[in-house]
Amino acid sequence: ARSALDAIAADTAHNAFLHVDEALTLAEADAADAAIARGDAGPLAGVPIAHKDVFVTQGWRTTAGSRMLADYVSPFDATVVDKLRRAGAVSLGKLNCDEFAMGSSNENSAFGPVRNPWDAQAVPGGSSGGSAAAVAAGLAFGATATDTGGSIRQPASLCGVTGIKPTYGTVSRYGMIAYGSSLDQGGPIAHSARDLVELLDAMSGFDERDSTSVPDCQGAANQPGRIRAAFAAARSGQGSAPLAGLRVGVPREFFGAGLAADVAEAIETALRQLEALGAQRVEISLPRTELSIPAYYVIATAEASSNLSRYDAVRYGHRAAQYADIADMTARSRAEGFGAEVQRRILTGTYVLSHGYYDAYYLQAQRIRRLIAQDFQRVLGSECDIIAGPVSPTVAWNLGEKSDDPVAMYLADIYTLAVNLAGVPGMSVPCGFGQGANARRPVGLQIIGNYFDEGRLLAVADAYQ
Ligand code: GLN
Repeated sequence: ARSALDAIAADTAHNAFLHVDEALTLAEADAADAAIARGDAGPLAGVPIAHKDVFVTQGWRTTAGSRMLADYVSPFDATVVDKLRRAGAVSLGKLNCDEFAMGSSNENSAFGPVRNPWDAQAVPGGSSGGSAAAVAAGLAFGATATDTGGSIRQPASLCGVTGIKPTYGTVSRYGMIAYGSSLDQGGPIAHSARDLVELLDAMSGFDERDSTSVPDCQGAANQPGRIRAAFAAARSGQGSAPLAGLRVGVPREFFGAGLAADVAEAIETALRQLEALGAQRVEISLPRTELSIPAYYVIATAEASSNLSRYDAVRYGHRAAQYADIADMTARSRAEGFGAEVQRRILTGTYVLSHGYYDAYYLQAQRIRRLIAQDFQRVLGSECDIIAGPVSPTVAWNLGEKSDDPVAMYLADIYTLAVNLAGVPGMSVPCGFGQGANARRPVGLQIIGNYFDEGRLLAVADAYQ
């Protein structure tokens, strides 16, 4: 923990950390040392990690990357923070992210963008850009992150690290600042699938304080130990060829016109390696892939407009210095506290929920969501065991390159959104680099599984790594 704190203090290149408090970290490290000495240390005793700044933390500031919460200190810890500490992990601090987790490049943070450790001109991806960059730069062994529409998988892909978004409902959302509640799910980013097994095992578990938390994962109780056991079972099921008998579905819609040639080539090489490990490749179809973009940007903004109404400048958060009356106070405080992208989404979400438009937009998006979830159920199990393809249509782009074009930014989410709309687990595994000018920009392979199949995804990633 001491050497990690020194490395963080010396790092001026990445802007990955928003808040560090050495005294708090060292107190956690002392507690971990004491547990080790007593012989009752948890599985992560002394492992230095850091939290995306959307997980609330007692004592540490929590900003969600927003001016609205620039000085906010929570009176309680998020369940995820509490669980990781109980497992012995030591927190190094809070990590930069897009404001309220809205974005794909980390450029929407009120506290400045994060830089990609592989190439200082490149974005790290988002919204969990600080989490992916901190791990890639060697500043933390692992990091917490959240994924509403790709924010664990896409920054992991763009920074060359490994990340998993588990099945919706397996990781508690209590104390995780809400964006789109029916889509938001926490998960870890780390160097390898092995590390993710330990982190996810400690993070996940039923929580009665989250109304969408699941107690039961199709026969296995949702509690620490489930992920590790499922991973071990999937590993021991592997025969002489590690992936013998595994049917890998490759959706033809993931290889269309928008996919960059260098990403396509890295993915193709990875798919051949899965075959060399014994897997069988099958072509499948996820016909509503393109519709996932409008469906997601209606549902996520609708939920965001509702969730963010709590920032009224009365209970907590930024309050304008001058105002005429209480309505003016709320209006001015929100105009000052929220950045442009957050305001755009609140307006969009309010519009799609308003009288006269609700049926045309919001209800229609919910119908598409159901069909997208059915598409996964049609192929998983009958045609294939897992699905594989790219995470992002391109490698990391340059800072500033898409910041004036929100629609271009939204279109880059095409391969990640359906997973959140369906609630199934997905992960990103490093599988090479781009070409030419992109030779130092990583590519990630996405693997997607059926509900609660995290153990198998992690075992496949581990065999590949
Ligand atoms: N890029 C997507 C968005 O901006 C996903 C963000 C996320 O998963 N938090 O909404």
